[in-house]
Amino acid sequence: MECRIPFSGRSIRYTEEEVAVVAECMRSAVPLTQGRFLHEFEQKFASYQGVEEGSCFAVCNGTCALELAAALCGIRPGDEVIVPSHTFTSSAYPFQKAGAKIVWCDVAEDTHVVDAATIARVMTPKTKAVVAVHLYGYMADMPSIVNLCHEKNVLVIEDAAQAIGCEFHGRKAGSFGDMAAFSFHSHKNLTTLGEGGMIYVQDKLKRQIVPMLRHNGHCAFPYERKDYWKPAMGNVDLPMVDGRTAWPANYCLGEAECALGAKLLDRIDSINDAKRQRALSFIDGLADCPELVFLREETRRHNYHLLVAAMTKGTEARDTFMRIMYHEHGIQCAVQYMPLNRYDYYARLGLSEASCPAGDRFFDTMISFPFHASLSDEDVAYMADRTKQTLLEL
Ligand SMILES: *Cc1c(COP(=O)(O)O)cnc(C)c1O
Repeated sequence: MECRIPFSGRSIRYTEEEVAVVAECMRSAVPLTQGRFLHEFEQKFASYQGVEEGSCFAVCNGTCALELAAALCGIRPGDEVIVPSHTFTSSAYPFQKAGAKIVWCDVAEDTHVVDAATIARVMTPKTKAVVAVHLYGYMADMPSIVNLCHEKNVLVIEDAAQAIGCEFHGRKAGSFGDMAAFSFHSHKNLTTLGEGGMIYVQDKLKRQIVPMLRHNGHCAFPYERKDYWKPAMGNVDLPMVDGRTAWPANYCLGEAECALGAKLLDRIDSINDAKRQRALSFIDGLADCPELVFLREETRRHNYHLLVAAMTKGTEARDTFMRIMYHEHGIQCAVQYMPLNRYDYYARLGLSEASCPAGDRFFDTMISFPFHASLSDEDVAYMADRTKQTLLEL
């Protein structure tokens, strides 16, 4: 049958005004990358986040932001980086590529994100950094995580790829850690034409080398020149972090994406608030269905990037539910974030062992409902109705 509600690869629709911003950029922007829209986006983003001007840098996606964060850690052989096993692969592999040993940590049973207790359990004297992932758009308890880590001189990197606009006691996700990564991928609540990202860097010294790391190591010559083309138009150099080489790449984000990103910041709170209202009414509508356990959060701590539930009746019941929803009702739910230690990539690196029972259990029983912002109210009502009916049939 035709799929009535697909698990969409795209989260939002653009307004005509947003389309016009991109069109205008196509007509007139010079250059098409690294121009005024980049600076506008970065400034507006920093101000939205409530962080210092000059601390946010746009990049071509969230993974690049995490690659940069890994490069800025100054990782030495033997250093460990703690990452939840229940997350997307980009939370982890940039740190492994930068030379760290990945150490898996579990998520909390009720929230599906890390907390100070799950992190503390796997900390060692070799821990260099912790990646705190705000998975599904639910913000981890950053004050207690930062306290724990900074007491032990451990860096905190927030993977806020799914958490734009989330707040903990009025402070934004991605403003607590030493660094933070954001994604503007097609799936995310704010998307810049499918790809895009941002990195926040708290440390002023580390900030200075970000433009260079993001753009091939390009920098100015450290002396006055008589002719602007001698010895070359510009210099390239090799930046260092704590005495370790940080390798450059090209992670730049184009002007059209930046112009659109800046424009979308005007509306991201209303996108998130609408998703939260919708999630709460969906969850409350299923209050009589104890088989599905949702995380219910009324504050901006959750932006409901994704709407997920645990099936209390186990994996088989979950799979039957998914099949009926898809084949009989045309509703395509998903199962997300297989614990990374189960993937071939990490097995080949000797990282297949993990003691993360809460993340394992959640993955084996979880259901992720289609929840893009462009669903109609009618679609959501239909999905709630069919969910109830399917649970009765189980
Ligand atoms: C989307 C995502 C990323 C990667 O972002 P891209 O922009 O797709 O590279 C990293 N971590 C998490 C948790 C994500 O959801």
